[in-house]
Amino acid sequence: MNPLESLKEEVVVRLTPKENRVIASFKDATPLDWEDWRWQLRNRIRSLDVLKKVVNLTLQEEKGIVGCGDKLTMSIPPYFASLMDADDPKCPIRLQSVPLGYELETSAEEMKDPCGEDDHSPVHGLVHRYPDRVLFLVNEMCAMYCRYCTRSRMVGDGKRTLSKETYEAAFDYIRSNKKIRDVLISGGDPLTMSDRMLEYIISTLKSIPHVEFVRIGTRIPVTLPQRITFDLVNMLKKYSPIWMSIHFNHAKEITKRVKFACDLLADSGIPLGSQTVLLKGINDKPSIMKKLMHELLKIRVRPYYIYQCDPILGSKHFRTPVSVGINIMEKLRGHTTGYAVPTYVIDGPGGGGKIPINPNYIIARDENKYILRNFANQEFHYVDPQ
Ligand SMILES: *Cc1c(COP(=O)(O)O)cnc(C)c1O
Ligand code: SF4
Repeated sequence: MNPLESLKEEVVVRLTPKENRVIASFKDATPLDWEDWRWQLRNRIRSLDVLKKVVNLTLQEEKGIVGCGDKLTMSIPPYFASLMDADDPKCPIRLQSVPLGYELETSAEEMKDPCGEDDHSPVHGLVHRYPDRVLFLVNEMCAMYCRYCTRSRMVGDGKRTLSKETYEAAFDYIRSNKKIRDVLISGGDPLTMSDRMLEYIISTLKSIPHVEFVRIGTRIPVTLPQRITFDLVNMLKKYSPIWMSIHFNHAKEITKRVKFACDLLADSGIPLGSQTVLLKGINDKPSIMKKLMHELLKIRVRPYYIYQCDPILGSKHFRTPVSVGINIMEKLRGHTTGYAVPTYVIDGPGGGGKIPINPNYIIARDENKYILRNFANQEFHYVDPQ
């Protein structure tokens, strides 16, 4: 039996009771379908009627689903929906994926393109903000549309891939800029594309002499772990080193199935990092964030960034004061494994890039003397070399 077959056998045995409950709402679907990422994509939950079979919706949710319409449409892989708590509207999986009526309200500080990406785009698909690296938005489709998405201006199922001409123009730009040593492939979600399409992009980038490595930014290992197949990792292995940043927001997302996907990636020599968005009512408590970071280390994912939620249109119900993020960092650093402490950043609105925000550990400075405090608030003095 080949490894994929034996994996499928195991998965068949292991469908959880909640997965079985969700699959029952799809006519004739089998556990093997459930394990097929294309089946999961085709059968994403996009309507009120189907979601109603899975959870007991609140009026706010119904209002959101109807109201969001085609603008950042609701789209939830059945696997991800099976993680929802049917009776708890505060379930972190629900809050991230099911629109609420609050999305339709906007406030003064909100913007369509909060990170100013369109203004830093030399050719379609590329955002060139930092001298030595570039962000390459290779498509516009994701498995699940996160309700607070900073790229809600562009994401949607319309563009599964961009045109060949668009890709070639981006490659030409990177070829002609010898300072670019690092290309971050994101979207949309690059892993919604076929292996063949991904390989075309990655192999072309790797053939450019000054590109030292590529990285992939994705949420797929969380929302659609079935996509991480043996074929995919065998293809990625050929282009080592490839780094991967995975968007994780809550410990509840880290299931056995997700661990399996991350094991496949890590065993293939792909270093894994996490990116987390600080979200009100989802992960804005130090204990919840710490638990997430601990669970990530257990599946070999190194916490990389916590992002302040960008002021995207209709995001007020997700955003916390900055002091909440600083307090979380205060409760992590020193109190737990250093590897479990990511960098908290605010993407400077309008195009400032990632700005690190930290609790202040320098109490005072007098010429070459520093008065410092440690994580337990004890004072220490440090003197610069004379
Ligand atoms: C986040 C980001 C990068 C990568 O930043 P790192 O700090 O190197 O991970 C590059 N370009 C843009 C436009 C970005 O938003
Ligand atoms: S996966 Fe990323 S790009 Fe896609 S909707 Fe979520 S935050 Fe936006």
